[in-house]
Amino acid sequence: MAKRDYYEVLGVQKGASDAEIKKAYRKLAKKYHPDTNQGNPEAEAKFKEASEAYEVLSDEQKRGAYDRYGHSAFEQGGAGGAGGFSGGFDFDMDDIFGSVFGDMFGGGGRRRPRGPRPGNDIKQTIQVEFAEAAFGVEKEIKIQTSETCETCHGTKAKPGTNPTTCTKCNGTGQVRVTQRTILGAMQSVQTCDACHGEGKIINEPCQTCHGQGKVRTSKTITVSIPAGIDHGQTLRIQGKGEAGDVGAPNGDLLLTVYIKAHELFERRGMDVYMRMPINFAQAALGSELSIPTLDGNVKFTIGEGTQTGTTFRLQGKGIPSLRNKKQRGDQYVEVYVEVPKNLTAKQKDLLREFADGTVEHQPEQMNFRKKIEKFFNKN
Ligand SMILES: [Zn+2]
Ligand SMILES: [Zn+2]
Repeated sequence: MAKRDYYEVLGVQKGASDAEIKKAYRKLAKKYHPDTNQGNPEAEAKFKEASEAYEVLSDEQKRGAYDRYGHSAFEQGGAGGAGGFSGGFDFDMDDIFGSVFGDMFGGGGRRRPRGPRPGNDIKQTIQVEFAEAAFGVEKEIKIQTSETCETCHGTKAKPGTNPTTCTKCNGTGQVRVTQRTILGAMQSVQTCDACHGEGKIINEPCQTCHGQGKVRTSKTITVSIPAGIDHGQTLRIQGKGEAGDVGAPNGDLLLTVYIKAHELFERRGMDVYMRMPINFAQAALGSELSIPTLDGNVKFTIGEGTQTGTTFRLQGKGIPSLRNKKQRGDQYVEVYVEVPKNLTAKQKDLLREFADGTVEHQPEQMNFRKKIEKFFNKN
């Protein structure tokens, strides 16, 4: 299926301003948001499409790449691809949503008040097998992160010593600065440079963390990959990022999932596609096929005279929905007739014998011959 132009998706002109793009997306996102359109796959698709368009067009760099190269800018193996993994689509609903709606519901979006700072997010990728992505899996992964220092418990001070209140700001972390300008004296509030806004002075820093309050570490954690996750989707695992300051939360782990290619199956959304070779006799006589699916082999009977390219649907044998495990896509099986090679002399004779006088069983060939005759008789 051809991808729609991102500008078209949002219904804006190519030269639209950031504000216009944001406004257009906000309108669409409200209309198609999954919460108000439960069980409506069309709305879900529209919502995803609009979010994807917005993620690209709201980012100066991505928008520039899209304007120059179109969708191929983000395709796998495209210009952005370095090494094993490439492009993919970093789809993080929370991020997109937060950035657009954050300011609408007050709180000033992502801006945080001064005080203990939360930890940084960690970004990482993980490879899973086809079936693991379909049914979900628990994986152990190694992450490089920071943890609260065990020696000082994040206070940054050597145990047994006490930080003293900063005398310059009296522990507030802020100082008022008066500047003379042509308009008169102007007062502004700045971060205290003596304590860097912390309100306390550490006279003897902790030796384990060198006064950082945190130490770098690598550790193994178990993550749970939900059933139905698709290639390139990013999970936000709360609290598994770097340690925050004392009293502030940890960052999150942003885990992008890549699905390894499968020898038999190809995934498109929630559906699984497969091509299956059959022989001429099976196609002509009909046959009971044993078809591999995610749930094991399934028997399926094809009728007499099945043609190459005929596609069968095995209902409910596809990928479970990320939102509702009980909902599953379908598996599509396209059969094709494999023409035999390297036949023995006897087999060839049998075929020749067979082919004599079978044309009346091949309506397409008969039809084709008639068309040829008609074509030559006219001229
Ligand atoms: Zn320490
Ligand atoms: Zn201070």
